[in-house]
Amino acid sequence: MSSDCIFCRIIAGEVPSETVYRDDRVTAFRDIRPVAPVHILIVPNKHIASVNEAEEADEAVLGRLLLTAKRLAVQEGIAKSGYRLIINTGPHAGQEVFHLHLHLIGGQRMRHPMG
Ligand code: 5GP
Ligand code: ZN
Repeated sequence: MSSDCIFCRIIAGEVPSETVYRDDRVTAFRDIRPVAPVHILIVPNKHIASVNEAEEADEAVLGRLLLTAKRLAVQEGIAKSGYRLIINTGPHAGQEVFHLHLHLIGGQRMRHPMG
């Protein structure tokens, strides 16, 4: 938990969010500025700043991020129509929040590169 990290504060319940899923490893909530009808962020409960900081010991949580995306795609009714999964890492990718997160984006045909 990092008190100056917005996603850690969401996970801790200190900042409100529309949470759609939570388990022992990950939390998923709707993006505050959605780029498509479905735009969910899936984050490790543990603070990992970005993929660059992920370690071997994080293998289980990294796998859980993808499997949670699959589950939420079914729940949101976009598994068949399709969706995009994005992890922005570092300045060139435009990463804004330095708590690793997987964007699940769908519900409309995608235009390149996002939404
Ligand atoms: P990044 O560019 O780092 O991959 O994406 C960060 C995402 O977090 C953005 O899509 C932004 O809208 C979202 N975001 C930033 N602050 C908040 C917040 O306080 N609550 C929620 N739900 N989403 C946020
Ligand atoms: Zn954090």
